[in-house]
Amino acid sequence: VEAVLPSTNTEMKKRIVNTPHNLANGDVVLAEVQTAGRGRHGREWLAPVGGSLTFSMYWSFPDGYQSMAGLSLLVGLAVCEGLKAVGVDDAQLKWPNDVYLQGKKLAGILIEVEGQIGATAHSVIGIGLNVCMPENQYDVGQPHTDLAAFLGFAPDRNSLAAAIIHALCDLLPKFSQQGFGPFVDLWQAMDLYADKTIVLQMGEKRFSGVDRGVDASGALLVETRDGITRFHGGEVSLRGQ
Ligand code: ATP
Repeated sequence: VEAVLPSTNTEMKKRIVNTPHNLANGDVVLAEVQTAGRGRHGREWLAPVGGSLTFSMYWSFPDGYQSMAGLSLLVGLAVCEGLKAVGVDDAQLKWPNDVYLQGKKLAGILIEVEGQIGATAHSVIGIGLNVCMPENQYDVGQPHTDLAAFLGFAPDRNSLAAAIIHALCDLLPKFSQQGFGPFVDLWQAMDLYADKTIVLQMGEKRFSGVDRGVDASGALLVETRDGITRFHGGEVSLRGQ
């Protein structure tokens, strides 16, 4: 546990490079305050002092990068499982990496990897979750919420961290062995946009269709008049209509 870190993901990546033999699956770096939190594609993740839960977990995949397919979705499931410990049992998931509550963003997940294709992939599982965000102080740029707004009080961050870490350590061994396949139904039951029309943004390109869930690799299935198209995590951003 650190008081202040630029980013718990960056700190964990440093540890993978500098002291890999000291790391075991499930090791976690937590920060009280994160000063330079990141989202995907270098976007910013805002975390108010004392009002956010930010941590990163280490997990290795000996079969390499390809065996991580669907990891951000699996982590979303673990966050939802952990949230039950503080009385939140209707969180939803937005493909590929966000946790929503009452239609607004509650938490983000950032998966990064150190290691070569073919060799062991050393993954960093970063989670940022809004516990109590001061109103109007942060320009987040999209609808967001926090646990205090939903519950009427700010839950204990240590208990919440413990519950999410526990859920991750529970789900990750099965995921490592069997991939995302066994979790598809669970994920689809929590899909924010299940059977809804969505818009996918890929750089300048846009693609619209109906969300038909995910496959065993965690790819999103989008239905149009031409049939089903699969989208993989890295390339696209998804919005409702
Ligand atoms: P994508 O669907 O491509 O993942 P995203 O907008 O969810 O798009 P992320 O990279 O997951 O992008 O997260 C970064 C974005 O999240 C920021 O650009 C900002 O709009 C939003 N954001 C930043 N801090 C917070 C926060 N504390 N709570 C909710 N949303 C936040």
